[in-house]
Amino acid sequence: RSLPYFCRGQVVRGFGRGSKDLGIPTANFPESVVDNLPADISTGIYYGWARVDNGDIHKMVMSIGWNPYYKNTKKSMETHVIHKFKEDFYGQMLSVAMVGYIRPERGFKSLDELIAAIHSDIEEAKTKLDLPEHLKLKEHNFFKTST
Ligand code: ADP
Ligand code: MG
Repeated sequence: RSLPYFCRGQVVRGFGRGSKDLGIPTANFPESVVDNLPADISTGIYYGWARVDNGDIHKMVMSIGWNPYYKNTKKSMETHVIHKFKEDFYGQMLSVAMVGYIRPERGFKSLDELIAAIHSDIEEAKTKLDLPEHLKLKEHNFFKTST
């Protein structure tokens, strides 16, 4: 198992699927970060910790999926930081610790069903990350370096 897995990269524009319109913006990592993922990291929903530049460390949920922009031949990594930001942070450094796996990707019958699933993922992430073994990762050296 390769969790926890730590990575960072500059936030790039996604494919404008309008995640923000659903109230669940997802920050995309550049291809270089996605290409570095260990082979045994499967697609699906993960939870963990995230930090923008040298800001506070927040809880996050991340979707690793097949990128439609590359005809599903490449993966994408999209992070929803569980925090209300005043402004977008395109171009800024996003550091994440992927800590645990929630579920595989799946199709949904409706947008409402999708949004409900994401909200339940967020609730699960919040609860799991309060476990001492997960909380201690906020003190990991990975988050000590300034970017
Ligand atoms: P895109 O298709 O460009 O990824 P989104 O609608 O998914 O567009 O919005 C993602 C952008 O929203 C991020 O790149 C970031 O700059 C901004 N953003 C604001 N708040 C958050 C948040 N809580 N989590 C993730 N991204 C956020
Ligand atoms: Mg997005």
